[in-house]
Amino acid sequence: MTKQGRVFSGARPTGRQHLGNYLGAIKNYVALQDNYECVYCIVDVHALTTMDTTLELKQNTYDMALDWLAAGIRPEESIVFIQSHVPQVMELHTYLSMVTPIGKLTDLPTFKDKVRENPNNVNYGLVGYPVLMAADILLYATDFVPVGVDQAPHLEFTREVVRSFNYRYGAPVLKEPQMKTTSIPKVLGIDGVQKMSKSLNNHIELASTAEETTQRVMQMVTDTARIRRSDPGNPDVCNVFSLHKIFSSQDEIDMINVECRRAGIGCVDCKKILAKNLNAHLEPFRSRRNELDQNPAYIWDTLADGAKRATVLAEETMTAVRDAIGLP
Ligand code: ADP
Repeated sequence: MTKQGRVFSGARPTGRQHLGNYLGAIKNYVALQDNYECVYCIVDVHALTTMDTTLELKQNTYDMALDWLAAGIRPEESIVFIQSHVPQVMELHTYLSMVTPIGKLTDLPTFKDKVRENPNNVNYGLVGYPVLMAADILLYATDFVPVGVDQAPHLEFTREVVRSFNYRYGAPVLKEPQMKTTSIPKVLGIDGVQKMSKSLNNHIELASTAEETTQRVMQMVTDTARIRRSDPGNPDVCNVFSLHKIFSSQDEIDMINVECRRAGIGCVDCKKILAKNLNAHLEPFRSRRNELDQNPAYIWDTLADGAKRATVLAEETMTAVRDAIGLP
């Protein structure tokens, strides 16, 4: 089947992925492969903007790539690579920075958030983060970028950079990417309140064992108004139920929806069903992951091959860019 265009997405190397990463990003990455030519990048340079130490960078990159491949990203078809392996992105970043007013960068809500989070490390790289992100997208002549609402201003920024660059140098060399808005679910952590995140330690790791997964599920906070087993619960506000809707059968969902409300099923039993279904869902992922993990060289070779293919696309763009600028 002919593909409907090129998709680009990047994610920082955060190591072993969790259920939030899976439902919020990886699952969509896998699905997009059917209809698009996909370029998936582990953005290690972006990670440097907020990192105190790079000691775990290599391991985290490996673990993330392993999870991506085990989850169904097909590297023969899609380009999967590490950002710093295609240094042309740094070159494009510099050229794009010349058509980027600094105020636009400091006005972005994400920049303000980062400053709040890291008040003692507001570095130059952090300010330029969206420019590097634009370079990532534009270097590979991307048609579509899958974005959640929080990333929309960055993509709009990228589109403005394209217009400024093409206007400034009088040639349509950069392609304006389109937003591919996907309804990305916000997966809550086991605390049932905050977004699932490794840093909050409220996550369920995809690669953990069935026993560890069950243990995490059993720790999940349910409807806090339900105190005793005999109290009726409200699935509409229960995080366990929101995961049932993804991982359980329709019959089980219907049963829980009714029985929880009349205290016919308790939270412990409800969680046991979820743990069973979640483990069944993750089982093929885990066995594939274990298999891939036997051969780390395969992962690194795959990433190197991805970088090689990405470089071909990058050089095509850069040749046109250098020419349009009029570099001697
Ligand atoms: P990044 O800075 O690369 O977005 P994260 O690790 O925060 O790094 O997220 C990687 C991807 O996983 C992003 O697309 C993000 O939206 C998604 N993601 C992370 N946590 C969650 C969550 N709890 N619910 C939904 N999606 C999530």
